Amino acid sequence: QAKARGRGTLCLFDPAMKAELEERRAIADDLAVALLADEIEIALQPKTSFKDGRHTGFEALVRWQRGGEPVPPPLMIAVAEENGLIVALGYRIFDLALATIRNLVDAGLAPGSVAVNVAAMQLRQDDFVTRVLGLLDKHGLPPATLEIEVTEHVLLDGGDDCIAHTLAALRAHGIRVSLDDFGTGYASLTHLKRFPVDCLKVDRSFVRDIAREPDNAILTRTIITLAHSLGMEAVAEGVESVAQYQFLEEQGCDYAQGYLIARPLPRREVAAYLRGFTAPARLRTGSPAARP
Ligand code: C2E
Ligand code: MG
Ligand code: MG
Ligand code: MG
Repeated sequence: QAKARGRGTLCLFDPAMKAELEERRAIADDLAVALLADEIEIALQPKTSFKDGRHTGFEALVRWQRGGEPVPPPLMIAVAEENGLIVALGYRIFDLALATIRNLVDAGLAPGSVAVNVAAMQLRQDDFVTRVLGLLDKHGLPPATLEIEVTEHVLLDGGDDCIAHTLAALRAHGIRVSLDDFGTGYASLTHLKRFPVDCLKVDRSFVRDIAREPDNAILTRTIITLAHSLGMEAVAEGVESVAQYQFLEEQGCDYAQGYLIARPLPRREVAAYLRGFTAPARLRTGSPAARP
């Protein structure tokens, strides 16, 4: 489009683009304020084991109400990455996630692990590993409590030695690393070798059409097999139906996450979830397990 307007024409001030830039800047400003005002929240989505149907842990997902409207996490994260706020936001999310686990343990519950999604810029901070270990220490939790989720994009865009080094250091300390949305980016087998991880998360887009699209069933099976051949585990995300659950179980997938088991829960609902957990029974009767 820029070319059609002739060489040397800058379309930076295209009105639509300008409006979008201004909107993103406004979001960034509000986000900085929200961070200081402690208005950033997380929801926690449970994960279960296919082996025995038991609860194994949670994934922390950022939540922010901006003027009464929830901001979509991918937009919020993109804006935060553009202006560097992601670093402070990221530590806030670690702190909230670990504080939640601490409270659950103190209440005599068994919350398992918590997985936190991280962006490339966070992994490039010199003191990232030290600060994360410091937060574990602050909450009196062992490193095995924590899992880090990175997307393939992190390996590609930021596929430098610095990130490989950080991931290796996290793992050496006993923090598990998962490759999120696996199969949607262009990570190659070479990347898996260069960035060793503990777990592959089969992207929701494959799981969604398992029953209708034979290709997706084959891709899902292949990712699970790949994970196991390389000594890793496989998690399926976006499991919404009993049919999907059973297919994944037959393929030997290790863990399940999705609305069938539970939606991401506000922090205050997590203890009740753990107390009332009866996933295997719910799955046997095939009744939808979605919670409000
Ligand atoms: P993700 O890490 O792959 O997280 C899974 C997303 O799928 C979440 O959306 C979750 O609410 C949604 N989901 C889970 N189960 C189901 C299901 O059965 N069906 C459907 N339709 N959706 C399901 P959410 O919370 O909107 O987050 C979207 C993405 O934003 C995340 O994808 C992650 O990439 C990013 N994100 C979220 N929180 C954080 C964060 O704290 N830090 C960073 N860096 N990224 C985050
Ligand atoms: Mg994730
Ligand atoms: Mg994911
Ligand atoms: Mg995803």
